[in-house]
Amino acid sequence: MISNSVTVLATKWRPKIFGDIIGQSHTISQLTSALDKGTLGHALIFCGTRGSGKTTTARLVAAHYNCEVCYPVEEPKVEGYGKGDAVFPILTTPIGVPGLNSPKEVEPCGKCKDCKMIRVGVHPSVMEIDAASNTGVDNIRELQSVLQYVTSGQRVVILDEAHMLSKNAFNCLLKTLEEPPPGVTIILCTTEPHKLLDTVKSRCQIYEFQEVDLRTLATFYEHIMKSENIKSNGLPTESLFSDPMSIAIKANGSVRDGLSILQKALSGEQEADNSKQYFELVGAIYNQDVITALDILQELRKAEESRVVIQTLEKWFYWCSLESFGMKTPVRDYFGESATSNFDLGRLQESFKTCLEIERNFTATPNSKIVLDMGILKLCM
Ligand SMILES: [Zn+2]
Repeated sequence: MISNSVTVLATKWRPKIFGDIIGQSHTISQLTSALDKGTLGHALIFCGTRGSGKTTTARLVAAHYNCEVCYPVEEPKVEGYGKGDAVFPILTTPIGVPGLNSPKEVEPCGKCKDCKMIRVGVHPSVMEIDAASNTGVDNIRELQSVLQYVTSGQRVVILDEAHMLSKNAFNCLLKTLEEPPPGVTIILCTTEPHKLLDTVKSRCQIYEFQEVDLRTLATFYEHIMKSENIKSNGLPTESLFSDPMSIAIKANGSVRDGLSILQKALSGEQEADNSKQYFELVGAIYNQDVITALDILQELRKAEESRVVIQTLEKWFYWCSLESFGMKTPVRDYFGESATSNFDLGRLQESFKTCLEIERNFTATPNSKIVLDMGILKLCM
């Protein structure tokens, strides 16, 4: 049943162990090695582009600390007692103490009760807080008072979009970051680490997550499509979504975005492919054709936010720059090999710089339409 596959796709392919996380091998190996040695800090920052696996990894850290395979407690052999019967605590032998010394395994098992509860977000010891909607001092005070209560599991607090916290909220959080209550780990996840106060950063271990590269994404989607037999679910072979690379380009470095494109494709929903429009926009900019550029912009804006348009343009100028050195990128199919080898690198660099400038200007005014229009005019000059 197609509808069934739609609901399970994102859940089914959610990483269950660190080894399932794609495109972050360096960061994951640093992290797992720290877990193995028991040297991972109690205050962490996971930063990187959206969809790169920050929150998923934070959940796996929580799973590691709570998994019965990573930190087993040996059942004592007492005559007359069965497994699971109440025994005196003194008879149990913990192997490793989470966050203090070596675990038996680094990878969470993914199967025990704790692992499963953490994966679906219902574990009592793991708190996920969206900092975007809990920005104030009161929210942090509330969190701090909750953390005073002792629970049986290892507490992990995951603060998503941490850069959204107010300055006062951050200041209020400082002491907790410096010295969390015993058994508590705090993980700040953010796409914009430069917005975190220096006093916060200096109290945390920082882990950077890269944008997942195209080839890795494409290979991942290809694997899913094969495993899920997606083509035979009625997608036309010539459809945009029969090509893992197209999905990877559209996903823009985010594993999750590509998965949701696949889900939409499965449910028969149309996901607009606007690569051709970007190709025409870059062409119009290159030819200093302001009217055409603004026309295309108006169309693009119907489907995408101004910021996304500029970020996608940045990517196109980046790809075009690589093409001028003869490297094959996703834009080759649009421009053709002879055109790409004639690209003017100097102009591409200038255009890229202008895009970065436009992106910065979005924060200066709430009117993103004007910023984008003026920015495109500048690019055409
Ligand atoms: Zn487990």
